[in-house]
Amino acid sequence: MIHPERITPLNRKSPRRGRWILYWMQASQRASWNHALEFAIREANGPALPVVAFFGLTPDFPEANLRHYRFLLEGLREVRNNLEKRGVALVVRIVSPEKGALELCRDAALAVTDRGYLRIQKAWREAAARDALCPLIQVESDVIVPVESASPKEEFSAATLRPKIRTRLTDFLHPLEETPVERDSLGLRLPGLSLDDAEAVLRTLSLDRSVPPVDSFRGGPGEAGKRLERFLDDGLDRYATERNIPGSDAVSDLSPYLHFGHISPLEIALAVRASRRGNPAAKDAFLEELIVRRELAVNFVHYNPSYDAYEGAVPAWARRTLEDHARDPREYVYGLQDLEEARTHDPFWNAAQREMVRTGKMHNYMRMYWGKKILEWSASPADAFRTMLALNNRWELDGRDPNGFAGVAWCLGKHDRPWGERTIFGNVRYMNAAGLKRKFDMGAYLERFGTEA
Ligand code: FAD
Repeated sequence: MIHPERITPLNRKSPRRGRWILYWMQASQRASWNHALEFAIREANGPALPVVAFFGLTPDFPEANLRHYRFLLEGLREVRNNLEKRGVALVVRIVSPEKGALELCRDAALAVTDRGYLRIQKAWREAAARDALCPLIQVESDVIVPVESASPKEEFSAATLRPKIRTRLTDFLHPLEETPVERDSLGLRLPGLSLDDAEAVLRTLSLDRSVPPVDSFRGGPGEAGKRLERFLDDGLDRYATERNIPGSDAVSDLSPYLHFGHISPLEIALAVRASRRGNPAAKDAFLEELIVRRELAVNFVHYNPSYDAYEGAVPAWARRTLEDHARDPREYVYGLQDLEEARTHDPFWNAAQREMVRTGKMHNYMRMYWGKKILEWSASPADAFRTMLALNNRWELDGRDPNGFAGVAWCLGKHDRPWGERTIFGNVRYMNAAGLKRKFDMGAYLERFGTEA
């Protein structure tokens, strides 16, 4: 069953005669565990229409670069193959997504799309809903509890969202049944990009090429599935106790795949719950991150239109205390370039920055330390916010995600409470290198990332 709360009509256009049902796939880039795709198939089977899937490849996605686009294209090629196996042709065109969707809406009886929470993702859907001649229906598939069902407002913290999410889990933690396609769209031969040679497609796009692709993560649902298996076999059981150790392999490494929609959080959550390997504490700790923390970030960007601006994202109490300490002397002040090139006095921070630059993914505990130090070493908290977001979104494969905006704001007090007052930070939580050394053996991490490559 596709829970009705996942489904929102985005316009009031009447159903019409058409050649196909369009599935405009933008956020949920996968052919299974995809509520929007299943909804489109079910709508198509009644009138015996084929489903055409469409993805708009825009070279202008804010802050995306070669690293992100290669990962995206690796995934799309596999998704195209998986969709074809189900009888659904995927049309990929280099075009602004809403414009491309509108072209294919002309012959559609109905269009279905998935849901994204960032400003640009909402704007695409609003524009398409306004201009389409057919109904456009949004089906939310990249969260466990649909954002408005979890809460009608921006939540203060995990503590306020958690009980609301928990009461709805029994409604939403259910597997998604796949419906066979009754009439395939493979013979329609609609013009679109060939995805067989990702490098050739990349060459045709006018992109920021200053951030190289990484071999550490290969895009696609297949790779996401392998990583989930590895995590269930060897990781989950240690998650509660080892996930915070910098460089630890007790984490899932699924965030890039979640970001691109290559894997569904529902599939992950059900697999973790059913796993015989993980102990209850580990499962609880993991589901807290995957569901409560991740969906708190979705709640934040959905309800807070200023999620990417210091003034709007950082809560008033935190801005007040940070501004009270804005003139505190700073022992070190680094600019964007020094930070980007890992040229600070702090070997742990430099190692974290190198981990992100080289692998496309920094370990979670180090992300917190990394952000807190940027606050400590910036001329102002607003500068720190901008620097963190710029570096995070540029180098992390999972950047430009609700989690990134929430994580950066967290470093400045968002979703947190006031702590004891201290220099520069005021009442915002502080972290230091002594804490890292006391809690962890940092030797192995420094061995991997401590020196320039
Ligand atoms: P696991 O520990 O295996 O967790 C599984 C999933 O749960 C993650 O993939 C993620 O979706 C979710 N999750 C885990 N930790 C958190 C958390 N603290 N907050 C919200 N969700 C969480 N995450 C991103 O996806 N993109 C970002 O750009 C991003 N930037 C961040 C910046 C800063 C400054 C901070 C402090 C955190 C940031 N995070 C970001 C959150 C977190 O660090 C990553 O989600 C996590 O490290 C991903 O690794 P994993 O998949 O191995 O996580």
